[in-house]
Amino acid sequence: MPLEEKYLQLLSAFLPTVVGEKERERFSLLFDCVVETNNQINITSLISPIDVTLKHFLDSLTLFMNDEFRKSLKDGKKVCDIGCGGGFPGLPIASVSPETPLTMIDSTEKKITALKENAKNLRLDHIFPVWGRGEELAGAKDGKYREKFDVCVSRAVASLPVLCELCLPFVRVGGTFYAMKGMKAHGEVEDAKKAIPMLGGSLKDIQEIRLDENVDLSAFDDAEKEKIKEFISSSRYLVIIKKNKATLPVYPRKWSQIIKKTL
Ligand code: SAM
Repeated sequence: MPLEEKYLQLLSAFLPTVVGEKERERFSLLFDCVVETNNQINITSLISPIDVTLKHFLDSLTLFMNDEFRKSLKDGKKVCDIGCGGGFPGLPIASVSPETPLTMIDSTEKKITALKENAKNLRLDHIFPVWGRGEELAGAKDGKYREKFDVCVSRAVASLPVLCELCLPFVRVGGTFYAMKGMKAHGEVEDAKKAIPMLGGSLKDIQEIRLDENVDLSAFDDAEKEKIKEFISSSRYLVIIKKNKATLPVYPRKWSQIIKKTL
């Protein structure tokens, strides 16, 4: 089932320079794939058109509200989404930026199998789903993934100190890690203030994401209007971390260590 026009127009209303006609077509097909996949393997509980539009598509696309992120995609940089789950934020990024090579990593095999299928159906041949644990792939002897990405993104995977140890080893020196965070962002940054430099990074910014409160909602019923308003008013931040120097080979450690003795 394709996504109804009013939801697609909502994406364009919030992000007019990111979601045009071509992108709306891709998001309509993407919705169909997400619903179909979910019927098979139950990846997400958010499956109504308004929930998918807001909490998966629009939320993922808020990355494009950062100028440097946008510019790096235009320049054809290599991107990695760690703990991508059913494909977020990676699939929306891929739908907007079809020339960006995008590696999507998750430790749950069925999610990666579904992503491969979706990538084929959507003809997104620039995305590379990889099944594996982030800490094992980044620490692997073959060095295939270590410090190979210009940009790393992650949403809803772990607290920031843990996430930094998981993600920064993937980022090349000079690259950037964007952690998508909610209302606790500032506290998490405080908790990660030792971990970030230990892993070769430095905090560049905590960007508050603000969505336009004046978009036209007349096409929506009251229940959907409420959801949209709630979504607009909830806090979200991009924690932006620059990679200044190579991560020491001892990191990332085993998951049990990362969790028990968080940096
Ligand atoms: N990023 C997606 C989103 O926002 O919809 C998925 C979020 S889901 C709550 C967290 C995902 O992280 C799960 O799919 C899980 O398998 C994955 N994950 C957790 N720890 C991981 C690790 N160490 N390496 C790779 N993936 C991991």
